[in-house]
Amino acid sequence: MNARSSPASRWNKILTGNSTMSKKPTNIMHSIFKRQGILSQFVANYQPRRAQFEMANLVLESLSSERHALIEAGTGTGKSFGYALPAAYWALKEEKRVIISTNTITLQQQLLEKELPMVKQVISELSEEWAETFNFELAKGRGNYICRRRLQELADDRLAGEQKHGPVISRLAKHVSALEKGDRDEIPFPLPPGLFSLIQGDADDCMGKQSPFHKECFIQNARRKLQNAQIIVVNHALFFTDLLLRKQGASILPHYDAVIMDEAHRVEDQVTNQYTYHISLEEVNKLFLRVTKRRAHWVRELDDNDLLMHVEGIRARLVTRLAEIFAPLAKGLAERPQNEYLLKKPIVRDYSFQPIFADFKNLIRDKRKQVELEKGENETVMGMDRYLSQIEQLEGMLKHILLYENAEEWATWVAFAAEDEKENNMLQDDYTWGSRLHLYSAPIEINSLLRGDLFEDKTVIMTSATLTTQGDFSFVANRLGMDDYGSMQAPSPFNYEEQAVLVVPDNVPAPTEAAFESFLSAAMKEIVEATRGRTFLLFTSYSQMNRIYEDMKSWLERLGLTGLLHGPGVSRDQMLQAFRASGKAVLFGCDSFWEGVDVPGDDLICVVMAKLPFPVPSDPLTRARTERLERKGQNSFTDYTLPFSILRLKQGFGRLIRTKKDRGTVVILDTRIHTKRYGQHVLDSLPPARLSTNLDDIGRFLYRA
Ligand code: SF4
Repeated sequence: MNARSSPASRWNKILTGNSTMSKKPTNIMHSIFKRQGILSQFVANYQPRRAQFEMANLVLESLSSERHALIEAGTGTGKSFGYALPAAYWALKEEKRVIISTNTITLQQQLLEKELPMVKQVISELSEEWAETFNFELAKGRGNYICRRRLQELADDRLAGEQKHGPVISRLAKHVSALEKGDRDEIPFPLPPGLFSLIQGDADDCMGKQSPFHKECFIQNARRKLQNAQIIVVNHALFFTDLLLRKQGASILPHYDAVIMDEAHRVEDQVTNQYTYHISLEEVNKLFLRVTKRRAHWVRELDDNDLLMHVEGIRARLVTRLAEIFAPLAKGLAERPQNEYLLKKPIVRDYSFQPIFADFKNLIRDKRKQVELEKGENETVMGMDRYLSQIEQLEGMLKHILLYENAEEWATWVAFAAEDEKENNMLQDDYTWGSRLHLYSAPIEINSLLRGDLFEDKTVIMTSATLTTQGDFSFVANRLGMDDYGSMQAPSPFNYEEQAVLVVPDNVPAPTEAAFESFLSAAMKEIVEATRGRTFLLFTSYSQMNRIYEDMKSWLERLGLTGLLHGPGVSRDQMLQAFRASGKAVLFGCDSFWEGVDVPGDDLICVVMAKLPFPVPSDPLTRARTERLERKGQNSFTDYTLPFSILRLKQGFGRLIRTKKDRGTVVILDTRIHTKRYGQHVLDSLPPARLSTNLDDIGRFLYRA
């Protein structure tokens, strides 16, 4: 085994060399984070951590000077306190509001239940007045809450055709006043599938001040509480939904001054998801069902059967025409090996939907005018206005996708949802074929969107355990569009050289060779024999994972070990619980196990990665991204594919060592680390564990005397 570098000296250099802002400690942060400082009164066995203190200084300086920051903080840095304490202090001192956005519920819970209550205690030590005023809140989307009016209407039997859950609705209606927050998690008994969607908050079906429940509305109460909070915790999805709404003059969150994005390595994906258009026959039908099924409040107020009949007529025209266009595309995709396909040209030559949408909008507009004349601008009129803007949105999306608009900036693709193979495709009509087609369009790069919508307006601090490749932030900064920023690479306090061994065997077939999969199976058996369980096997392909699992299943049983396969219907948390409880388990995981999984201590002693996690080249968005870079004269491999893979690999590696006491091995079964020029680049980006090429070193390291 080779020592690659002295971890202490390497990290020291990184810490001092890459912190691009002044490192002058602020007195207030020092009084909080120092040994026997304020924080030590509330944290058991408190040990000051230099990296945490430096991070807190940088966060405070960034907020005060309104300059963005990128902070890579390794596991064990204590980054939550590193940003939450300066954020709370700054918000109170300057009368500002800070959003903390996370990717996972686990981190949200940890912040709300552990770190932020302690932040409140620390803040209370700084000022009696602040002890009174400091508040933090969790913001959830409207759809997480019960709409009391919708529930009552359902209980009163006013929603035609939706009353099949009678007893449970009555039970909930009786119980609802006892709920404190009125969110879904608070309901003390299970609801039948689909019921919650009929009673959840819905902006398009809210009567606002005219609602009989306005004063007791759970959503209004939650929004009011946010107004009194200096720190608001959200997830990335809600944060970017709010950002999009702000462009349309609406919002979910109250005004804020700065945002701290933890788990920031997921921001590009989250932003892309929020900006992605999706059209299918089901989505189109949903818009009409709001009217024809009387799901919107304004429709029930109008009680106009004529209107319903006309809307149904327009729906039939639109859906029939769309099915004629979608069906041949779906049939074509059913013949292909891939069920997704990146478009290279418009789907239709002539856009012929304008008359249908004009009829639709005129129908609603005429009705709206009539109601406004009779009753003035009431909630019914406002509901119709919202409905009109939804029609316009659908029309815009449809035109954008069918005509392949803005193709330089947007990737547009079609996907086929395969169904039961036993179905006889020959007998299906256009509608059935068409309803299996999904059309998407997503921005190829989100940097210009974030520049304009976020970075020009707010101070943004992004942090994660994985933001750099070879100590450089430029990949992430370029992808996100953050042009001017302070940065810091705060090391993990772990001694990787002592705590971990990285094994990269040099006798591995290339992943493209036929022998690779049988090698993988044999190597994984050899590794598991050495570890005797407590091992993660991480894959980049579900089909490969399933094949290897099938090959190893009975072998594992003979060894008295439990194989846990991440399959459909099994949650990540259930898998982790079973893994911890077993003590002799081997977990087969894909995507979601490469990151965000925390198994500290001896429960996990080995992480095996089957391949370097390069993005799948046939994925439409990956293809559009690489093609765009090539068009701009860049090298898509060095500028996108490789750094993307390194960040993912760092996440995978990060599953192993979670505390100073953890020990274990990481194995990468990809020979390209030895044979390709970029291999050294990959190794240099990983934590400085000892390096070996010999699988025998796993047992030697784990079970040495
Ligand atoms: S105010 Fe809107 S969301 Fe709240 S109970 Fe009334 S209708 Fe429902």
